[in-house]
Amino acid sequence: MLGGIEMGGTKMVCAVSLDGRSVLAEVRYPTGSDPAAAMARAADFFLSHDRPLDALGVGAFGPCDPSTTSPTYGHITTTPKPGWAGADVLGLLRGRLGGVPIAFDTDVNAAALGELRCGAGRGLESLVYLTIGTGIGGGAVAGGRLIHGLTHPEMGHIRVRRPAEEIGVFPGVCPFHGDCLEGVASGPALAARWGVPGPELPPDHPAWELEANYLAESVATLVLVLSPQRIVVGGGVGLAPRLIERIRPRVLALIGGYVRHEQLAEGAEEFIVAPALGDQAGVVGALCLAQDALA
Ligand code: ZN
Repeated sequence: MLGGIEMGGTKMVCAVSLDGRSVLAEVRYPTGSDPAAAMARAADFFLSHDRPLDALGVGAFGPCDPSTTSPTYGHITTTPKPGWAGADVLGLLRGRLGGVPIAFDTDVNAAALGELRCGAGRGLESLVYLTIGTGIGGGAVAGGRLIHGLTHPEMGHIRVRRPAEEIGVFPGVCPFHGDCLEGVASGPALAARWGVPGPELPPDHPAWELEANYLAESVATLVLVLSPQRIVVGGGVGLAPRLIERIRPRVLALIGGYVRHEQLAEGAEEFIVAPALGDQAGVVGALCLAQDALA
């Protein structure tokens, strides 16, 4: 029996599965501002089934500590989310679930793994998963393994080139960097720049041209740095109508023919894609983490 938790900034999704892909039962509830209560509710769900849990995977919003050798492994670290800074997620779960093997990673790394094994990246060894919503985050798999390092990648905070006229008009909303990618292209950035939430902007609004340019800059950078076999673009903003179609030709133009591969020569329609698992990518990815914890 495998368990998975997708810990989002606004909602938690807990699921159990026998094969790591088909969800037997699932529960969703608000993340709230009390980590102990949120994790207790997750543990109650996992303890409510006939079969005991064999392993658990957790994909958490960040910043968090996914380094297994760190003293704060499994903690949420510097989040501005009320109540959650420094929360020991792994410790809270272990307190209720005992010695069950638990794997902990970022929500976007979990989603990248889920898409690679069960979704848009099946059969591949490398993939980047980029989500554009309330925040912007990315997870990456290379050689079949999730990329870690000092902590975890923070693809949402890279710099993108901006039109000169925009720099004077809009400073960006990232509290750390101002006009990093998340600062200019996330849902809150769109709302701050244009005065209406991203999903309410009509498809022909000039905001989307700018959005496509920013996202294409970041995707082209990821192609050049990581050379992934596929890039999955999701999230509430990322799945806006025709956005991926606008990103593809811009990425190819930015690369300028320098990276030679058939995936980059024919419109990139199989290279830059939407998530095949939809909004289940995170929780399916958490189940994949559980499978690895068991192995
Ligand atoms: Zn930033």
